Amino acid sequence: MNSAAPAPVSNFLRTIIDNDLAQGRYAQKRWAGTPGPAAVQNTGSPDPARIRTRFPPEPNGYLHIGHAKSICLNFGLAQHYQGACHLRFDDTNPEKEDQEYVDAIIDMVKWLGYDWSFQNETNLYFASDYFQFFYDFAEALVLAGHAYVDEQSPDEMRATRGTLTEKGVNSPWRDRPANESLKLLREMRDGKHPDGSMALRAKIDMASPNINLRDPVLYRIRHAAHHRTGEAWCIYPMYAWAHPVEDALEGITHSICTLEFEDQRPFYDWILNRLADLGLLAHPLPHQYEFARLNMTYIVTSKRKLLQLVREGHVDGWDDPRMPTLVGLRRRGYTPASIRLFCERLGVSKADSRIDYAVLEQALRDDLDPCAPRSVAVLDPVKLVLTNFPEDHTELCHAPRNPHDPAAGQREFPLTRELWIEREDFMEEPPKKYFRLFPGNKVRLKYGFIIECTGCTKDEHGNVVEVQAQYLPDTKSGTPGADSIKVKGNITWVSARHAVPAEIRLYDRLFREAHPDAGDRNFLDAINPDSCQVIQGWLEPGTVATPGAHWQFERLGYFVADRELSTPAKPVLNRSVTLKDSWAQGK
Ligand code: ATP
Ligand code: MG
Repeated sequence: MNSAAPAPVSNFLRTIIDNDLAQGRYAQKRWAGTPGPAAVQNTGSPDPARIRTRFPPEPNGYLHIGHAKSICLNFGLAQHYQGACHLRFDDTNPEKEDQEYVDAIIDMVKWLGYDWSFQNETNLYFASDYFQFFYDFAEALVLAGHAYVDEQSPDEMRATRGTLTEKGVNSPWRDRPANESLKLLREMRDGKHPDGSMALRAKIDMASPNINLRDPVLYRIRHAAHHRTGEAWCIYPMYAWAHPVEDALEGITHSICTLEFEDQRPFYDWILNRLADLGLLAHPLPHQYEFARLNMTYIVTSKRKLLQLVREGHVDGWDDPRMPTLVGLRRRGYTPASIRLFCERLGVSKADSRIDYAVLEQALRDDLDPCAPRSVAVLDPVKLVLTNFPEDHTELCHAPRNPHDPAAGQREFPLTRELWIEREDFMEEPPKKYFRLFPGNKVRLKYGFIIECTGCTKDEHGNVVEVQAQYLPDTKSGTPGADSIKVKGNITWVSARHAVPAEIRLYDRLFREAHPDAGDRNFLDAINPDSCQVIQGWLEPGTVATPGAHWQFERLGYFVADRELSTPAKPVLNRSVTLKDSWAQGK
């Protein structure tokens, strides 16, 4: 809600980019306005974007908070340096990808506040649009002696790849003539061979200490329909081959990925240099940089595990407010600004760490505190009757809409003879230091009068069903008599006759333990059985629960009207976060 962007903090990537720009590394770079090989780019004008980054999701799942880190980083850098950030769907894996995920990803990157257009460029790309380029480049590599068709089975390839301590063994097909490989590659493309019967491999070095350079597979056969290209292809490029080519076709300057790809960088450079030497890719070539991925306590982010939570019904879908997906966080009440603030606070480093979930929660409080309207809710109601308050009288009380924002003005709500108060605000026999209602004690009804408790009524099981008190007429907040009596307790309330009924969902963390998937344990064993409590409460009159509206309910926390379920007539509210970190205090 808070639109002010956090002040950017420096990080190692900014230092690199500052240097690159100072040295004019991209000053000669040409860009034809559309992805393509050297023949296209060299006809272009100097690139108006000072840098190009990209966010390259595979459309095989919903984005989660870890992706947000990558989104904020890539789009944030482009914004900062007057560059462009492309949204590229890395859709080279036919089986698991789907248009549903494409749509959801576009939606959430926009929601986070980012835009992939730059001047008159759209910059929304699909790796599947490059299938023909991959193929043409593959033929060129074969003809130049940089790639060959290997007829070993996938198991044989694995077995001859060697280990960290043992060199690999050359394939018997490694030195076959280029035109034989070319003929087989064309047959692979034409669907003449079954899955797994052969593959195209780069010819690098089976003895390399870096296993990624031991003749990695470029193309495999997969007779599978693709969500965009249908049956047009039955060979699909491997990630390590496709990714550098995608970056180069799009004129990416800084290709930022997570640390586990560090060992892939030599291959990334190898392939780009071979293709540039063949005149297929334009200089300057993209460069890959790695940063530490976001790991957080109390959540899992593996797509497989998130899918399992949804499929097995541990949560109510991808957008369940307990999910670490962006759709889930949005439904929980997280704002785009709070997530950007969180990512900015994380910084960017090359050292792996685990971020406490509380850091994310604090970012939401910090974003909402200055702007969320205040209101009162009673979540565990018990009736309070002011026995000396006239039955038909309504006293109007006032409170700031937001104490940080006097310009927002005051809200007004009625005080009447019968009120709802929190059950925990009354005790018949209080312990020491309990300053709220008990017989004989005085407290202030917040923004209203001071009252003195006179007793309570109980049902046959001994449960308190009503509390009684008398009000002190000259003590209303904001009047001269307000300070005539000092009290230590101040309780929230709503007029029973005017209160708005609401369903309130008290969400808590989905996992009880900080490291639900540490080691080889089953993460499902760590599920918090009390992560959603649905209750009926009462809201201050005038609280209009338009879906997506946020409030701070005094004393209780930040809440949002559920995007899917809430209507002004029948409000359903989610607790986004409590006012303080209750987990830090051991709950
Ligand atoms: P997988 O590749 O296993 O399907 P993924 O989480 O890597 O899962 P992608 O769709 O490939 O999913 O991710 C898109 C981008 O988001 C990648 O550039 C990746 O590096 C980045 N990313 C994914 N998870 C994190 C994370 N936890 N922290 C930071 N960046 C992440
Ligand atoms: Mg990935």
